[in-house]
Amino acid sequence: MSFSTLGLHADVLSVLDTLGYQTPTPIQLAAIPEVLAGHDVMAGAQTGTGKTAAFALPLIQRHLTREASEKAIRVLVLTPTRELAQQVHKSFVKYSQGLGLNAVVAYGGASINPQIDALNEGCDVLVATPGRLLELTMKQLIDLNSVETLVLDEADRMLDMGFIIDIERILKRLPETRQTLFFSATFNDEVFALSKTLLRDPKLIEVSERNAAATQVEQRIYEVDNKRKAALIAYLIGSKNWKQVLIFTRTKQAVDDLAKELGKDGIKAVAVHGDKSQGARDRGLEEFKTGQVRVLVATDVAARGLDIEQLQYVINYELPYNAEDYIHRIGRTGRAGQDGLAISLVSSKEKYLLTDIEKLTGETFVPQWLEGFEPNPMVQEEAASSKRKPSKKTLRAKALGQSGAQVKSGKPRRR
Ligand code: AMP
Repeated sequence: MSFSTLGLHADVLSVLDTLGYQTPTPIQLAAIPEVLAGHDVMAGAQTGTGKTAAFALPLIQRHLTREASEKAIRVLVLTPTRELAQQVHKSFVKYSQGLGLNAVVAYGGASINPQIDALNEGCDVLVATPGRLLELTMKQLIDLNSVETLVLDEADRMLDMGFIIDIERILKRLPETRQTLFFSATFNDEVFALSKTLLRDPKLIEVSERNAAATQVEQRIYEVDNKRKAALIAYLIGSKNWKQVLIFTRTKQAVDDLAKELGKDGIKAVAVHGDKSQGARDRGLEEFKTGQVRVLVATDVAARGLDIEQLQYVINYELPYNAEDYIHRIGRTGRAGQDGLAISLVSSKEKYLLTDIEKLTGETFVPQWLEGFEPNPMVQEEAASSKRKPSKKTLRAKALGQSGAQVKSGKPRRR
């Protein structure tokens, strides 16, 4: 199957040719004709499946075939994080090179003025995070009345980050008659409820089994005591000479501590989390991509949307409290058909989190011990005899530095 069978315009095909894309991915095969036909779409697709092109290519095509008219925001893409917004914007620019389409990106945590300037130069496609978009609309700096297509990218993560109220406010400013494309890596009741309010007679597309972890990724579990985790990671990276390793932790503090610890072992690591300035995050990502540093340590939210091709290694320094985050994390490797290795370090106190992941993914893991890093049985006994474990919600809130009241308020969380 080739792109030319999907009804794409010769100019779009020519860009794909330049990029060396020969075969559509499953999500592209399924979604492109539906989007071109103007249908609403609800798609279950993870990052790394080629989902950005699946919606960007047909929307670019619509721009090409439109009678020449004034610039106006015809496509609005909402993303949960600034990194994903940047990545989606970059994809629109890449896929529409030479085709006269203006794509603008707007996200918080960065000066609004350059974004306003870019919007004033004319915008066909706006990629934005909900908070900054609302700011722009409240200040009456943009008009969303001309939006023909709304794309909700990583809807599950938007809900997880407490963006529901912002999304509802944005929806009120959009024309009721529009095309809506809804993408989510995972589905739960909340995601379905949101999709119901947004979509009209949607075409359902699922490219892999719901909630299935990315294929082509070997998942390995090492049982290890918490205080030996950093040493184990340093050993693996050093002894195997791994070059590009993405490591997830649950908290910003753990990101900083681990990056520092690895540095002491002579492994250059960059830390990326919500408290870092946008400039520092961009620099860190660039250093990682260009191989100046071997390791990028990040929280779940900060890592969302990082487009790093052929990333081979992902390490979970700690298991996430939310099992669905595990799927997102390991989706960072094995991208675009490449093989990947996802290693999770599990202390005795984290075993119940592994059980949650097994339930969600349908996998059965066989934890291993790594020679020299075997768990200390005394520590295991301590864990077993420790008092009743706190709820995951409490633990998660604690990890995020929130009080119980904040968790319930549904405010956006910074991780
Ligand atoms: P995405 O899931 O949109 O983040 O895309 C994952 C990666 O796959 C990106 O680096 C894209 O540039 C790349 N990609 C998307 N579609 C194709 C394709 N049909 N052939 C080769 N690479 C692709």
